[in-house]
Amino acid sequence: MQERREIKYGKGSRQCRRCGSHKGLIRRGGLNVCRRCIREIYGKIGFKKTGSRGG
Ligand SMILES: [Zn+2]
Repeated sequence: MQERREIKYGKGSRQCRRCGSHKGLIRRGGLNVCRRCIREIYGKIGFKKTGSRGG
């Protein structure tokens, strides 16, 4: 039995390098992650939050 693995991290592949999704892919600064993962990644760093002030 052969396991199907298509993990290609390069310029050719256009998919989230985190989950591998193609929807809402964001290539900002070479992140190559989908919107969903972006939130998780930036959420920890401190994504731009608009609306409420003072935290
Ligand atoms: Zn993702």
